[in-house]
Amino acid sequence: MTYPHDFRADRAWALAADAADPLAGLRVEFLIPPHGDAEQVYLCGNSLGLQPRATRQALIDELDDWGNLAVEAHFRGRHPWMPYHGFVRDDLAGLVGALPSEVVAMNSLSANLHLMMVSFYRPTRERHAILIERRAFPSDHYAVESQIRFHGYDPATSLIALDPDEPNGTISDAAIERALAKHGDRIALVLLPGVQYLTGQVLDLKSITRAAHARGCVVGFDLAHAVGNVPVDLHDTGCDFAVWCHYKYGNSGPGAVAGCFVHERHARSDRPRFAGWWGHDQSTRFQMGSQFVPTPGADGWQLSNPPILALAPLRVSLEIFKRAGIDRLREKSLALTAYLAWLIETQTGGALSIATPREPARRGCQLSLRVNGPRDAGRSLFEHLNARGIVGDWREPDTIRIAPTPLYNRFADCHAFVEAVKEWAAPR
Ligand SMILES: *Cc1c(COP(=O)(O)O)cnc(C)c1O
Repeated sequence: MTYPHDFRADRAWALAADAADPLAGLRVEFLIPPHGDAEQVYLCGNSLGLQPRATRQALIDELDDWGNLAVEAHFRGRHPWMPYHGFVRDDLAGLVGALPSEVVAMNSLSANLHLMMVSFYRPTRERHAILIERRAFPSDHYAVESQIRFHGYDPATSLIALDPDEPNGTISDAAIERALAKHGDRIALVLLPGVQYLTGQVLDLKSITRAAHARGCVVGFDLAHAVGNVPVDLHDTGCDFAVWCHYKYGNSGPGAVAGCFVHERHARSDRPRFAGWWGHDQSTRFQMGSQFVPTPGADGWQLSNPPILALAPLRVSLEIFKRAGIDRLREKSLALTAYLAWLIETQTGGALSIATPREPARRGCQLSLRVNGPRDAGRSLFEHLNARGIVGDWREPDTIRIAPTPLYNRFADCHAFVEAVKEWAAPR
């Protein structure tokens, strides 16, 4: 272990841990928003990741290539637009543990979820249900319900919602297995998160996939809170598809182009799909025929020529991840989040409870915190933090999410957060 786990509560310990951190140099590659004359303590990378400094120039380069080369930039640009999505694809495959042919950056998360369900949710009279979690992100819930209705089924009978069964609102592996044992033969699709957005729980994608496949279900994952947060080894999980966004831990800017994974075994799938010309086989795309021949692999689900101005920030960000290494980032993240949890549990006098699982393997960067006290205590703490330039996020009705990310956060940031909590809790 490169990172210390012999935590102490004094600030000197945090500063020493930061000074010894081999990844500390990455922080200067990001723009940290100011707070007065200082910098924010930004602990909100789970919601919107910070801007890499290199992003601005990458965008200017594309604008200049457009200005100077216009249509020729497709071939002669510094990063030629024609093969552009390929530059992104290879680094993305590295980040999510997939083969390059299994991933593509396109559209937005919810749009990709629909495209994947068009191909991978094929309900029959016997098998028409989708298993999701009761507290799934609303967009996922809406997408699933609308797909069920689109096929002429009724969410009342075709949507199976998995209830949290653990005290803090997390879901045990056993609960997933029970749901599969009970409903498996009518479940067409299992759609679960890699990291649950409210609780921060990491799910075991490989064992879920194995159990669901054993019951004949198709398996898709929403990795919105997983990609760039924890290593996911998507190919190895064996899941059928996955979707995610890049504006959270992916640091690619608001509404960034999203990601999509289709397992190699479906590379030449003849499943139905919604097609567009950019999914057509590259070698004959420009013959402009009317017979759709999909490019093998995830590329075959593309619809349109890619938005270069939106891909440039993703290219920059993936380059940083490649240099840092997701496994090394995870090692730092384990220490950062364990330190934050330790400070909260030992230094805040019980002001906060942690809803996120304790086991390191069952959580990523984020800790979801409940404020003990009256109904409005949570908001009051949240406002106290904001006034001090400490940025987390608030999820109704009672959760503060705090996510130290290993790319740009420091042990000192965790320390500052807890000092502010103590200050808020003291006079009460
Ligand atoms: C962030 C998030 C979304 C957001 O969807 P967009 O299409 O990117 O707006 C959807 N689902 C989950 C689980 C998320 O965490």
